[in-house]
Amino acid sequence: MSSQMIPEYYGDDYRSEVPRFQIFLNCYNCQRPSSRYLQAIPPEITTEDELIESGLLAKQAFLCGKCECPIGTITGVKVEWISVPY
Ligand SMILES: [Zn+2]
Repeated sequence: MSSQMIPEYYGDDYRSEVPRFQIFLNCYNCQRPSSRYLQAIPPEITTEDELIESGLLAKQAFLCGKCECPIGTITGVKVEWISVPY
């Protein structure tokens, strides 16, 4: 009978790199392309696929800077890793 205690290492607790998501949209009305960075993405989302599956994109408010149309069509998502100082 042996009960093994396996220490769990979580590695570095802090992150020095965080994903930053950029989405590309076309205005539904005037078709003007634009892009923006998403804010407040949960830390467990680190890929484009996870972002799309999370449904967060549907909750993004959009307002065309040119014609003020509130409807945007998402044409692409890009993730980049940026270094943040801790
Ligand atoms: Zn527009």
